[in-house]
Amino acid sequence: MSQPLRLAGKTVLVTAAGQGIGRASALAMAETGARVIATDVNADLLADLHHDAIETQVLDVLDDTAVQTTMNAKKPNVLFNCAGVVHHGTILDCTTDEWDFAFNLNVRAMFIATQAALPHMLEQGGGSIINMSSAVSSIIAAPNRFAYGASKAAVVGLTKSVAKDFVTQGIRCNAICPGTVESPSWHERVTALGEQLGSYDAALEQFVSRQPMGRVATADEIANLVVYLASDESAFTTGQTHVIDGGWAS
Ligand code: NAD
Repeated sequence: MSQPLRLAGKTVLVTAAGQGIGRASALAMAETGARVIATDVNADLLADLHHDAIETQVLDVLDDTAVQTTMNAKKPNVLFNCAGVVHHGTILDCTTDEWDFAFNLNVRAMFIATQAALPHMLEQGGGSIINMSSAVSSIIAAPNRFAYGASKAAVVGLTKSVAKDFVTQGIRCNAICPGTVESPSWHERVTALGEQLGSYDAALEQFVSRQPMGRVATADEIANLVVYLASDESAFTTGQTHVIDGGWAS
């Protein structure tokens, strides 16, 4: 007898599903039985995201009203807050505008989306919220990741707080903390460093050399963890930082 799909009956909303980890996760959750609302600010990136179980929608997570309207309409019982930005530089390089942007996109947008989705999850008797943090957060630091690390550490605090307050009401809230993951924006970061160092290969070597496994992750490897946290197989974990970094922070 065939097993029921792991995410059958789940309605999942993914932010930043146009590329990278968000896209891989949307596809993986659709493959495992969920109805997926794949959202992104960039319509072009959503245009070729095709799957019978995926509905796409343009959504800027910085638009509070649009986020609220979307949650009211879609009533997800799984929310994957994936949108985020990497700011490059130390504290001496960081302007207040860059700091504000990092915190608005990496943390405030997550607060608004979660606040909008949570009442619908409570009405349905439960839900799973998965927040994109990073190994570079409260776990470890990396060079030139000042605003990024600070904002991703705030995601850990936000996650634990939501988990604590709603643990008796069927809500789980977990953070995922990837190490370096191959994605379009990661390739842009390697290219930018390559321009400083005079060679793309030298930049690639610098990124890979800090990885104990000698490679970075694929987005599909992170998506597997997202599927697990979305599913009832992870029913006993909440408020945790799920580190998936190839041993970087070990
Ligand atoms: P990416 O950076 O290549 O793509 C980001 C996506 O976010 C794009 O599709 C973009 O259109 C979308 N986006 C940007 N602003 C948005 C907004 N205002 N509203 C909605 N969508 C918006 O993808 P990635 O590298 O897989 O990163 C995804 C998340 O994973 C980010 O939060 C990032 O910080 C985190 N992360 C990435 C890595 C890595 O090495 N790639 C490691 C740890 C954590």
